[in-house]
Amino acid sequence: MAQLQYDEIMVRYGELSTKGRNKKNFIDRLGNNVRKALHDFSKVKVHANPDRLHIILNGADSTAVMKRLKLVFGIQTFSPSLRVEKDFAAVCQAAKTLIEKQVDRPMTFKVETKRSDHDFAMGTFEMNRELGGYLLQEFPELLTVDVHQPDIEVRVEVRLNGIFLTSEIIKGAGGLPVGTAGKGMMMLSGGIDSPVAAYLALKRGVSLEMVHFYSPPYTSEQALAKAKELTGKLAQYAGSIRFIQVPFTEIQETVKEKVPEGYLMTVQRRFMLRLAVELANRRRGLAIFNGESLGQVASQTMESMRAIEEVTNMPVLRPVLSYDKTEIIKIAEDIDTYELSILPYEDCCTVFTPPSPKTKPNMAKAAKYESWLDVDGLMERALAGIQIEEIHAGQEFLNQNEDIFAELL
Ligand code: ATP
Ligand code: MG
Repeated sequence: MAQLQYDEIMVRYGELSTKGRNKKNFIDRLGNNVRKALHDFSKVKVHANPDRLHIILNGADSTAVMKRLKLVFGIQTFSPSLRVEKDFAAVCQAAKTLIEKQVDRPMTFKVETKRSDHDFAMGTFEMNRELGGYLLQEFPELLTVDVHQPDIEVRVEVRLNGIFLTSEIIKGAGGLPVGTAGKGMMMLSGGIDSPVAAYLALKRGVSLEMVHFYSPPYTSEQALAKAKELTGKLAQYAGSIRFIQVPFTEIQETVKEKVPEGYLMTVQRRFMLRLAVELANRRRGLAIFNGESLGQVASQTMESMRAIEEVTNMPVLRPVLSYDKTEIIKIAEDIDTYELSILPYEDCCTVFTPPSPKTKPNMAKAAKYESWLDVDGLMERALAGIQIEEIHAGQEFLNQNEDIFAELL
C-alpha cells in the first residue's frame, strides 16, 4: 500500500513541559527550530501552542516531514493525523484507512475521543462506542477490543476546525530544544569523540559554534573538509552551525621547537584552550566543550586535564567523559558520523603528537616552558587568521575536494 498522506502532525513536548517559568521560551524556541528544520517545505505551517505543537502539512509530504522531525531535540513523541469534516461517516472512513495501514495481524484496540467543540452532535462516549463498533464490523478477523492495554489506540479529537484522527505514536529525539541552554564553543577535531560530544551537547539544548584547529601544510585540505562535513552532519540537529577554523601551524612549530618533548602535548592543549576561551568571550559563549573521555589516552588523565584547564576559569564540559570507546562508537554510528570520522586524514594533533607525552604533567613546569614563548603574540596572530563559515544541515565538503583532486590527476 502506498504511503498514507497525513494532514497534520501533532507533537508532544518532552521535558520542557516541566520547566515552569521558562516554558514559554522553550516552546517558542522549539517552534522556531521546527520551522527551521522544515524551512524548505513552503506550504507547512507550524503552531507552537502551550500544550502541543501542531504542524499543518497543507499537502506537504508527511513522510519527508516526519524524517526531519525525528532530529529535532525537545520532541518527546509525535503523531501523524488525518483531518476530516465533522461528520461521522467521514470519521469512519479515516479510521478505516489508519487501521488498514497499521494492522497486519490480529491486534487489540480501543477508541479514545476528546472533544473541544462541544456543539458537535456526538458525545465522546457515543463516538467511542459507535466508531469502535464500526471498526469491529469492518475488521472482524483482525480487531478485538481491549480498553486497558490495547495494541492500538485510535484517538479522535473533535475540534472547531474539524475532526482529527491518529493511531500512531512515534518517538522523537528527546532532549531540550537547541538554543535553550545558551551558547558553547565546541572543540571539534576530525575524530570519533568530539562529534559525539557535540551531538550530546546539542541534545541538552546547547547551541554550538565549532572551533577547529588546523595546521597547513602539515594537515591537508581534506582534514579541514572532513571537520566541516562532520559539522554538516551535526547541523541536522541544529539547522545550521558556525564553523570557526583557527590556524595553528605557527603555535605548533614554535612549541615543537622550544618545549621539551614530554610537555609538547600539554602546552599545545593549553594554547587550544586559551584560543577557544578567547573566541567564547568574543562571541558570548558560556562554556567550552570537548570530546575527552577519562583515561582514554595520555592527555585525558585527570592530572592532564587539571594542567590544561589551569589556563582558564571558564567551564570546560566533556559530554563523553564517562563513556567507553565502544559506547561512543555506537552513538557515532547512530548519528552517522562514524564513517566520516574514521577517514584517514590526519588532524593537527596527530601530526605533532610526541611518542610519549606525560600522563601526569606538572602545572608549574608547563607554565615555565610557556614563559619561554611569546604567548600573547602567538595567540594574537592565530586569532587574526580565523575564518568563520555558516554550515548548513547535510552540506558536503569532502566529495567536492575529491573531485578537484581527481581532476588534477
Ligand atoms: P576526538 O576523537 O574527538 O579527536 P580523541 O580521543 O582523538 O578525540 P584527542 O585527539 O586527544 O582525543 O583530542 C581530545 C579533544 O581535543 C577532542 O575531542 C577535541 O575536543 C579537541 N581537539 C583535538 N584536536 C582538535 C582540533 N584539531 N581542533 C579542535 N579541537 C581539537
Ligand atoms: Mg583526535
